[in-house]
Amino acid sequence: MLQEVVTLPYPGLRKRSKPIGHISDSTRQLVKDMEESTLDWENRREHEVGVALAAVQIDSHKRVVVIRNDFDNKKDKTFTAFINPEITKYEGEPTSEYEGCLSVKDLYGRVPRYPKVQVNAKNIDGKVVNITAEGFLARIFQHEIDHTNGILFVDRIKDEPEAFHRLRKISGNIEKLSEEERDAAFKEIF
Ligand SMILES: [Zn+2]
Repeated sequence: MLQEVVTLPYPGLRKRSKPIGHISDSTRQLVKDMEESTLDWENRREHEVGVALAAVQIDSHKRVVVIRNDFDNKKDKTFTAFINPEITKYEGEPTSEYEGCLSVKDLYGRVPRYPKVQVNAKNIDGKVVNITAEGFLARIFQHEIDHTNGILFVDRIKDEPEAFHRLRKISGNIEKLSEEERDAAFKEIF
């Protein structure tokens, strides 16, 4: 069933999610709802792609994440689900790139993330999977696993106001926030 993607300042987004013990029909239904809700969100936006979602974003506090299989291709509508995902190793020096979030309206930030991570999770069949993720995929895992711990990308750059940007609706460009815009945004999200 299609669910509303919740956005800040909704307090549930900053709550830690609980691990899944046994993968049941309700887990499988949750994954379907997450995929459907991500695609619906994307269909209503011209310049944005829904690359991934954590369950907390549809207000379910379970440690479940879905990631688009081909996030460079909007036509590919398939996802992979990760149950109880955990980062077991960080590698390299963090670098800052633009990041957005379905739960943070219009804001983008330059967020430092590790270029390479090792992830341990279960797939939807309950099988343990170990993934080495690099580049953008490593960034996605760090962003989504943060969600399962109640952390949003804006929380990571809270002390760096210069890192905040906004997507301009008409042009689709990402630009720096003016001081007034930043004040208004901070009031809403923190
Ligand atoms: Zn997000």
